[in-house]
Amino acid sequence: MTRVLFTTSELYPLVKTGGLADVSASLPAALKASGVDVRILLPGYPAAMPLTQQNPDSAPVALQVGPHAVKLWAAHLPETGVPVWLVDCPPLFDRSGSPYHNPDGQEWWDNAQRFALFARVAVLLASGGAGIHWIPDLVHCNDWQSGLIPVWLADLPGAPATVFTIHNIAYQGLFDHDTFRSLGLPDSLWHWERLEFHDRLSFIKGGLGYSDRITTVSPGYAKEIQTPAFGYGLEGLLGHRRQDLHGILNGIDTTVWNPATDPLIAEPFQSGEWHKKARCRQALLRESGLDDDDAPLIGFIGRLVEQKGIDWLLEVMPGWLGRGCRFVILGSGEQRYEEPLKKLAQDWPGKLSLTLGYDEGLSHRITAGCDAFMMPSRFEPCGLNQLYSLRYGTVPVVHRVGGLADTVLDPGDSTPDQANGFSFSKPGPAGLDEALGRAMATFADKPAWQRLQANGMARDFSWTRSAREYQMLYQSLLPDHVSDRLYPSYGGKRHA
Ligand code: ADP
Repeated sequence: MTRVLFTTSELYPLVKTGGLADVSASLPAALKASGVDVRILLPGYPAAMPLTQQNPDSAPVALQVGPHAVKLWAAHLPETGVPVWLVDCPPLFDRSGSPYHNPDGQEWWDNAQRFALFARVAVLLASGGAGIHWIPDLVHCNDWQSGLIPVWLADLPGAPATVFTIHNIAYQGLFDHDTFRSLGLPDSLWHWERLEFHDRLSFIKGGLGYSDRITTVSPGYAKEIQTPAFGYGLEGLLGHRRQDLHGILNGIDTTVWNPATDPLIAEPFQSGEWHKKARCRQALLRESGLDDDDAPLIGFIGRLVEQKGIDWLLEVMPGWLGRGCRFVILGSGEQRYEEPLKKLAQDWPGKLSLTLGYDEGLSHRITAGCDAFMMPSRFEPCGLNQLYSLRYGTVPVVHRVGGLADTVLDPGDSTPDQANGFSFSKPGPAGLDEALGRAMATFADKPAWQRLQANGMARDFSWTRSAREYQMLYQSLLPDHVSDRLYPSYGGKRHA
């Protein structure tokens, strides 16, 4: 049985700021179901520590990591039974706020130290140094917070193979030179072919340079990040490692996101039961204080940040509100987007409902109750909301990038039995406006619209499919990984 240590800084439902949390819950569960011995390593945040109460008799493993006394607690995820180790180090992780920011929204001043310690513990576990009788064949690292793990493992003879997954290349874990020195990293790593990136320490370069394989969360994004428009300065390194870079589309948790059984929506429904979906729509209109009529209802859920194209939304929504459309928006984020959205909602009572904050239940009801769902992201590594929308018969209207391009098939370039949404290529509000125009024209043609809905609901976005691809990747690494693992010097031969 293949043993995999899955290292992550977020885990749904305990700690979530984005899609990484969902993946960290669902992928290990699907791997476990298909026979992989997978265990998760997570920082011991306050929201996670109650898991240690599951088994009051069990004692943690005590470790000394630099100046820090660490307790490593073994627990299980209640829903799926996947084993989890919690890295309990109160001075670094026992804090209120998000995993990365203090309650004022500032990055924790010592994030580098926090995730370097996390990486050290992973390395101890992976190399047998934690005194635990379980050593992985492979360490699956996620995002910059896990970036130093492959760096330190590369130094250890016979260490497990490593896979590094990029969930969003825009977040890189960049720190100054003093921080680099404070982590005790050798001077040789302060080099542009190692961890230095424009005079800063880059955690993510550790993952990209030193792991055996790199994955990202959709085939489209795997191609895009090799280009300057999407690579955030790392396109050269990623292009250099293109043979080792794979795009594996995320799945969704089909038990949580299932319109036929969802307890959070007004009425469960299946494909074809459009009258039941209509009741979800009515309930959503009521809940959101919107006018109840036949005009299209369009949703948006997500972080209110530049990536998500909120400025494009703000430009096109007034026109569509003027034409009778209604919008229901759920999100939180930057003030520069929250303020104009609030203003728009005030200007359009009964037409635009805005909920600022995080609300899992409402996100299900929007997904179930809307006719269409917008995702005009500037870039989107995979995107989950368009997958949820497809599964709930809510037609997505998206920018044709990354995972959105891989999953939303426009009638303009797919067959009638495949088309499931609308997409636009040219970045900017005009593209979104044009795609919304085509969507709204089709909305008026009920049989054509229902065909799009049914096509979307028929697609398999389960984790079983994705987990199979990860397993194949793991298998491909196990016999020969050692000979492959060295930093891919740009001039070198290793990954030529
Ligand atoms: P990202 O990871 O870039 O934020 P994804 O689409 O991959 O985007 O995943 C976002 C996840 O977070 C989805 O599960 C989405 O439904 C959820 N989400 C985002 N904002 C909110 C919110 N305000 N309320 C509820 N769920 C939200």
